[in-house]
Amino acid sequence: MTATPDTAGAGSGPGRSVLVTGGNRGIGLAVARSLAARGDRVAVTHRTGEPPAGLFGVRCDVTDEAQVERAFKEVAAEQGEVEVLVANAGITRDGLLLALGDEAVDAVLDTNLRSVFRLARHASRGMLGRRWGRMVLVSSAVAFTGSPGQTNYTAAKAGLVGLARSLAWELGSRGITVNVVTPGLVETDMLREVRPARLDQYLAMTPLGRAGTADEVAAAVRFLTGEEASYITGAVLPVSGGLGMGH
Ligand code: NDP
Repeated sequence: MTATPDTAGAGSGPGRSVLVTGGNRGIGLAVARSLAARGDRVAVTHRTGEPPAGLFGVRCDVTDEAQVERAFKEVAAEQGEVEVLVANAGITRDGLLLALGDEAVDAVLDTNLRSVFRLARHASRGMLGRRWGRMVLVSSAVAFTGSPGQTNYTAAKAGLVGLARSLAWELGSRGITVNVVTPGLVETDMLREVRPARLDQYLAMTPLGRAGTADEVAAAVRFLTGEEASYITGAVLPVSGGLGMGH
């Protein structure tokens, strides 16, 4: 049996319309700059301040459906309907379960997991029409290893894997891929919130023995959103220096 790759959609060429959530700093910014350097038209969400120079910014809190809906409209008007979604925005609110209030649980689940349902819903409408699309969800290595003090975060990040794999089934016949990256320790503002003793524990569990850079995560996202990855969907790609390998 022969199969023809479904690459005839409007999104298969260069200069695709990309939306990166949380693209104003950290991993998201590195992803946005990397895809822009490839020639894509890249929009980033930002909640406050100005967007990074050279990138189209849409003010958007991903936990707010009205703001997400408006963001997709603004992106479509500026650079065309979203063809590549990178769901990267995320927060931590750490604490051992017995001390973890509902507010910290809800905030992390809303930002890191529930938001991705609405982002993927908005993105998939345009992608279905074009019969082409790429979604990459930014999870974490700790989704698989577990992490004391991060039940909310690890539950949300593990949830992204199930979400991606079900979506891969729902959208695969239309040329849309949905994949996950699981970074380990990455040098961003988020890492600066981790206690030094805990950081040392993570480093001891990382065969490469160092934290990664946002650019190293961006390289994986760039691959998964490119034409080279046209036959990869439902995959989980670790970018973790080996932390949590084997899952
Ligand atoms: P940063 O803290 O540096 O950046 C987080 C980004 O998410 C910011 O752009 C922030 O926007 C945005 N964001 C947070 N909440 C919202 C919201 N409600 N609406 C819109 N944007 C929001 O983190 P990283 O760059 O390190 O993290 C990026 C992703 O990578 C996250 O999902 C994180 O969980 C994941 N990750 C990070 C690891 C690491 O070691 N750094 C390891 C594994 C996974 P604003 O500037 O407005 O706050």
